[in-house]
Amino acid sequence: MISERAKTVEAAATLAMSKLAKDMQANGIDVINLGVGESNFQTPKRIAQAAIAAIQAEQTSFYTPTSGIKALKQAIIDQVKQRFDADIAISNVTVTTGAKLSLYALMQVLVNPEDTVVAAAPLWVSYVEQIKLAGGILHTVKPTNDELKLTVADLNALPQKVKLVILNSPTNPTGQVYTRDEVTAILDWANQHGAYIILDEIYGQLVYNGAVFTSGLQIQALENSRMIIVDGVSKAYAMTGWRIGWTLASSDIISAMNKLLDHMTSNPTAVAQYAALAALTGDQDSVEEMRLAFEDRLNATYDLLNTVPGLQVAIKPQGAFYLFPKVTPEVLVAAGVKNTSELSMKILEEAHVAMPSGEGFGMPGYLRMGYAKDQTVLNEAVRRLTVFFEQYT
Ligand code: PLP
Repeated sequence: MISERAKTVEAAATLAMSKLAKDMQANGIDVINLGVGESNFQTPKRIAQAAIAAIQAEQTSFYTPTSGIKALKQAIIDQVKQRFDADIAISNVTVTTGAKLSLYALMQVLVNPEDTVVAAAPLWVSYVEQIKLAGGILHTVKPTNDELKLTVADLNALPQKVKLVILNSPTNPTGQVYTRDEVTAILDWANQHGAYIILDEIYGQLVYNGAVFTSGLQIQALENSRMIIVDGVSKAYAMTGWRIGWTLASSDIISAMNKLLDHMTSNPTAVAQYAALAALTGDQDSVEEMRLAFEDRLNATYDLLNTVPGLQVAIKPQGAFYLFPKVTPEVLVAAGVKNTSELSMKILEEAHVAMPSGEGFGMPGYLRMGYAKDQTVLNEAVRRLTVFFEQYT
């Protein structure tokens, strides 16, 4: 029998939607898949070549240290110094099989049964299940501001003791970027209340139209703090398939994670670590080229999407690569569906556009559109959505 614990876990709504889209494509249906959180760019050639070279140089046959090869950890330290002028040590770094595993291991290391973990809705789907698997209780704050950002006022309103706060900036799925003052205020709150705080900075290099990303590392030192940074190569380097992410934290947290990871993976895949090393140490032009492409797509698609009747994106995203339009309640009624989850299925079936609904992100009433696709594909998606929504407005 499947364990009670496993039975409580929901499949990732984003991956489920994407799988449905792929199944339809396999049956010859022309589906536009805007469901999954990855770009349509290939991993830059020089990175793939470095991985091939590492195999040919016989660097990839054996287990590596659990926390990753020293050269990659050093490259992460150097990048942190260069991007944020922060000094961290090798003992503050562990490399994992994607940022997702960093987050999973962190929940296991930090959260006791019944501990409260706080995050703002909408929030990334995997936090919810990872917290549940650790036995924690997720308290989802529903922000009242238009940007849907967590504020200190929200945190002050919580009656219970908070063990851990998760802050994701730029945010998946809203694309909002927390200002330096906002990050500072939330870190101060966590410090005053003895709470741990995970800053999920996976989209930190993907900010647009002059928005400025602030890392927690620009605000406070890591060692002896309860601040934890999660990052990785997936999004900025078009490397989702390689599965390399990392955690930066106080060395006691890193040691506890490494003990767990010993039994979970032994190490992140060696060849992927060499690819990530090349990503961080080589020419960074491809990061900027992709960022500029995403910026153009955001600007064009944001304007287009706001012309679709029944959909509205109030505040323009500043980072990541998602739009999170709100669906007017009238549309749900006219379309004869109970909620946006049903609506997203109807859109998939009738308009052949895959977009997960806000339900999986703790915020019903919205849809998420990943815009890291070619503009022609995005234009066609908006055209199909317009035809679909015109029937119900
Ligand atoms: N954090 C957020 C907010 C994400 O959207 C994702 C990927 O979708 C991740 C973490 C995990 O990234 P990866 O495991 O590919 O490094």
